[in-house]
Amino acid sequence: MTDPSPNSLQINEIPETFDTMIGWGCFGKGESLIQNQFTLTQFGDDSVDLDIICCGICGTDIHCIDSGWRPSDYPFVGGHEIIGRVTRIGKNVTHLKVGDRAGVGCQSASCKKCSNCQDNKENLCEDNVVWTFNDCWTNGDSTYGGFANKWRGEKEFAVKIPEQLSSVDASSILCAGITTYVPLKRYNVGPNSKVAVLGLGGLGHFGVQWAKAMGATVVAYGTSGEKLEDAKSLGCNDYITAYNSENAETHLNTFTHILATKILNEHWDMYFQMLKKNGIFILCDIPENNLAGINAFNMAAKQITIASSFIGSPKEIDEALAFATQNGIRTWANEFPMAKVNEAIEFVRQGKPKYRVVLMN
Ligand SMILES: [Zn+2]
Ligand SMILES: [Zn+2]
Repeated sequence: MTDPSPNSLQINEIPETFDTMIGWGCFGKGESLIQNQFTLTQFGDDSVDLDIICCGICGTDIHCIDSGWRPSDYPFVGGHEIIGRVTRIGKNVTHLKVGDRAGVGCQSASCKKCSNCQDNKENLCEDNVVWTFNDCWTNGDSTYGGFANKWRGEKEFAVKIPEQLSSVDASSILCAGITTYVPLKRYNVGPNSKVAVLGLGGLGHFGVQWAKAMGATVVAYGTSGEKLEDAKSLGCNDYITAYNSENAETHLNTFTHILATKILNEHWDMYFQMLKKNGIFILCDIPENNLAGINAFNMAAKQITIASSFIGSPKEIDEALAFATQNGIRTWANEFPMAKVNEAIEFVRQGKPKYRVVLMN
C-alpha cells in the first residue's frame, strides 16, 4: 500500500525543473521538517533567482513551526536569513547580476505605493507586507523561505551582499542583526550612551557588537555564567548573571538605553530601576504571551519611553551590512549542513547556539 504521507515522496524520481525547488517543509504543528519538492512562483521581469548558499535559523522559524503567535499555514518552508548566488534576473533588475551574492530577510514584498513604501520604509508598509515564508505573494502563490536549495522572489527585497562580508556573517544580519541595529541607530546610541543588552543570544550578540561600534558602554545581562568570556570577546564592559548579581547594583540608574532581546514580565520594576531618567527601553523580544506587570507610576516618574521596532527596510539592511563590514561585526555561528535541519532546530530549542545557527548548502 502506498504511504500517503509526504515522506513517501521520492525526490530523485521527480525531475527538478526551473520552477521547482527542494525544500524542508513543515507539514503540521510542532512536526519535524520533511524534504519535499515545491513549486516556485512564476518568474517575471522583477524576479531574482538564487541558489541558496546558507540560511540562519531564527526564533520566528520555531514560533511558526509551533503556531506560537498564530496558526501557521502548513506546509511552509521556513528560513529568512537567506544568502544565495544569483542565477537569473528579470529584465527590470539592475542592482544585481548573475553571479552576485544576494540576501533576503524576513520580508519579501510590499505594496510599493503607500507613503511608507514611497519613503523607503517598506517594513512599515500600510497595505501589504509579504513575509518570506508562511505567506503568499500578491498573486496568491506561496512564499518559500531559505531551508531549501533555491529562492525566487522580487528584486526589492534581494539586497546585494558586500564582497568583504562572508556569507555566514551576512546571513544573520538579515534578521537578528537588522532587528537590533535599526532601533539602536534610531534612538541615537553613541559615545555618551550606556546600553544594557538583556539576553546574550542570537539578537543580543549583535546588539552588543552594534552598540560597541557606535561608541557606547555596554553591559550584557544573561543567565549563563559560562558566557562571561564570550561577553568580553564581544566587547562588553560588564556581564551580569545570577552568579554575580551583586554587580548589578552598581549599574542601577545609569543606563540611557535597554535593548531587550529577552524579557520577563516580573522584572519590569528592575528594568525601570536600571534606566536613567528619560531612559529608553527598546523591546526586541516578541514573547507569545502579552506584556504585563508594568507599574505606570514608576515608568512616569522617570519619563521612560518603551519603544518597539520592526525589522528593517531594504535600505536599512544595506546600511547595516555596510556598517558591519566597516566595523568587523559578524555572526557568531554554529554551522550545520542543511540536511541536518531538524537536528539544528532541536539545538536551537535547547538554547545551545553560540549564538546563531546557520544551515549550509
Ligand atoms: Zn527572524
Ligand atoms: Zn506600502
